[in-house]
Parts: sequence; structure tokens; C-alpha cells
Amino acid sequence: MTLVVTEAIVLHAFDYLESSRILRLVTRDAGVRSVLARGAKRSRKRFGAALDLYAEGTAELQTKVGRDLDTLSSFDVARARPQLAAQMSRFTAASTVAELTLRFARDDADPALYDAVAGALDAIAAAGEDRVRDVALAAAWRILAELGVAPTVDACAECHAEIDKGAAAMFSHPAGGSLCARCAHLARAGRTLPASARAALRDWLGGTLHPLSDPNDVRAHQRLLREFVREHLADDRPLRAFDVWERDDWSRSATEAKA
Ligand SMILES: [Zn+2]
Repeated sequence: MTLVVTEAIVLHAFDYLESSRILRLVTRDAGVRSVLARGAKRSRKRFGAALDLYAEGTAELQTKVGRDLDTLSSFDVARARPQLAAQMSRFTAASTVAELTLRFARDDADPALYDAVAGALDAIAAAGEDRVRDVALAAAWRILAELGVAPTVDACAECHAEIDKGAAAMFSHPAGGSLCARCAHLARAGRTLPASARAALRDWLGGTLHPLSDPNDVRAHQRLLREFVREHLADDRPLRAFDVWERDDWSRSATEAKA
């Protein structure tokens, strides 16, 4: 048994047997971990708010070589982020960030990824209702960049030629980003991204916010992100949280109920 003490954020939680919970954590020093919180369901005293999604703090994990499930001995919460559960738009955006992190991340230390996830959740928690979606898009692309699966925006993904920042360019998911005119001509399929969409992508990948005011632009960017993630995931398991976030069913049905 090795004791690991590390900063951690709860990204997923479910009940296990009668009294325990299993949490999936992203940690600063040990990557993504599955941990068993024994007795967590029976007594909230032991782990406090650690059972809540998106809580962040210092976790003590007992790890054993060759075992997938660590044991959580304590979790000292420093930041609870209750705002993320208080509003559906924020909750679905945060769930998407958690899902992408859990699907792509590995179990080795990655402080930059940890900071990107913590920053993403803080930004979504602080965003106004009209900005939650583009803040989440920025967060998702930033996390993919930290995971090493970012697309190219200004260099051709095939031949590395520079592409004029002010021009539209073809974007190829299998190639891994933008294509110059010559390579675009040879590509079998792709989407043409207008200069404005490339500017947004460039900002987000670089860690800068880029507000989107047109809902059609938001939808086009969600689709681009989904297609890119699909192309670069190792398996075909569905992206349930992403699907809920993208379909936006809860807000549409709320609007229809009011009409
Ligand atoms: Zn090219």
C-alpha cells in the first residue's frame, strides 16, 4: 500500500453496495483515479462535502500496484462549487467537461491538465447564463489541448504550410485540423470553417475566452467539437453528457412550457 496525498476534484460519483460510494477523481499528482469511499453513504461526517460533484480539495488515497480501485481515506474540501448544480446550463456544461476528462485522461501525473479542469469548472460556475456555452467550448478545447489532442488552426495538418489567419479553411477531423488550399483539394471530406470560427478555435486552444452571441455559431462549434472528439477517441462508447449538453433538451422544453 502506498499513501498518496494530492489535490483532487470529484468528476463522477455513484453508490456502491449499501454504504459506500465510488468516486472518479482527477488529481494533480496521480492522474485520473477511481476511489472507494467506504461508509460514505452512511455517514457524511467522514467525508463531508467530498461526495458532491466538482468539489475540490486534498485527498488521501491508498493505492496498490495492479489494483484499479484506490481507497479514499480522507478528503479535505477546499472548494465545493455549488453553483454548478444550481443551474441546468452550468450543470450540463460541467458534466461535459468531466466526461471529456474521464474519457481521455490517463493515470499519470498531469498538473497542467488538472489546472485546466479546475479553471474550466470555475469559469463555468462564474459565467452568466448567456455565456455558459462558449465558456464551456473554450474549456473543452483547452482540456483537449492539454491532453495532446488539439487540432491545428493556422498550420496545415497535412503539409504544415501556414494558412492565412483571415481566410476560411477546410477542417478535416481525420487529418487533425485545418488544411491549406492544396491539401484541401486532395482531401476526401471536411468542413469549411470561416475565418471567424477559426479565430474562436485559436483563442480557445490558447486559453483565451471568445464570446459567441449567435446561437447558430454555438451549435456549429458544438458539432465541430463533437465530431473531433469522436474521431480521436479510442472507442465507440456514447458521450452521454455531451449529448445532453448539445441537444439542450432541458432548456427547449422549459421554453416550450412557458409559451
Ligand atoms: Zn497542406
